[in-house]
Amino acid sequence: MSAQAMAPAGFVTRFAPSPTGLLHLGHAYSALTAWDAAASADGVCLLRIEDTDTARVRAEYEAAIYEELRWLGLTWPEPVMRQSERHTAYAEALAHLDRLGVTYPCRCTRADIRSALAAPQEGADPSLAAPAVYPGTCSNRAMSEAGPSEAIRLNLDHALRLTEGQSLRWTETGPAHAGCHTLDPPVLREGVGDVVLARKDIGTAAYHLAVVVDDATQGVTHIVRGEDLLEATPIHRLLQALLELPVPVWHHHALVRDEDGKRLAKRDNARAIRTYRQAGLTPADVRHLSEDSTR
Ligand code: GLU
Repeated sequence: MSAQAMAPAGFVTRFAPSPTGLLHLGHAYSALTAWDAAASADGVCLLRIEDTDTARVRAEYEAAIYEELRWLGLTWPEPVMRQSERHTAYAEALAHLDRLGVTYPCRCTRADIRSALAAPQEGADPSLAAPAVYPGTCSNRAMSEAGPSEAIRLNLDHALRLTEGQSLRWTETGPAHAGCHTLDPPVLREGVGDVVLARKDIGTAAYHLAVVVDDATQGVTHIVRGEDLLEATPIHRLLQALLELPVPVWHHHALVRDEDGKRLAKRDNARAIRTYRQAGLTPADVRHLSEDSTR
């Protein structure tokens, strides 16, 4: 068993940034919330590098993550899990889902999806519509037809049918949505649909699959993350049921916003932790600033 699989028992949470830009005040808030939660539960906070988006990932951003988090006073067990090293685990999970018959290959381009979605709205410019729920164009294709550059999607209807008898519940402790929740199939069908599980070649997982597999491998018992990911929770819960993985507790925290109420973006370097450091702020100043900016 690898060191990563031997996660300690008790309260285990994680901070899982993507090295696609400098960490900003919102990341500082998220990291501090996760580490505070671990400290008050006498648990541990792990660090995971979500570097599957190879087109945007940069080594210097990964180095900056370690530097900024250390500057904030945070420590984590080594080795750090990096998603770019987890192809075997993702391929195994995909093979499991394939055996259940809940995956299919998809060769649609973004433009195909946009035009399929926009078809009923005469006169609408399909290039302007954001691709929403996938219309299921490829859903009758078999996995044996999968070409090397195709995406693998979850067949949501099959997955819901397979888990029908189970009551898929989870607990949320975040301020805005605290309580016990139950999977609501219409919400998943209308808001999420047949998500992409893997990209390009089998073994390169997309966000939903990678997160679910990694949280289980790392023994994460409590997921602390921003409210922007709240809507991903039901699909994560469904994947956990299909893959027979343990179910953590979720805590979605409030987001740090700019003065116009918009959530921060990685390209907004004015609010990068590095910028505050260089301006002479202390880690305590950054903590207070991040807390003040969520109100
Ligand atoms: N990598 C994601 C992000 O940077 C976080 C994923 C998660 O916490 O589930 O927003």
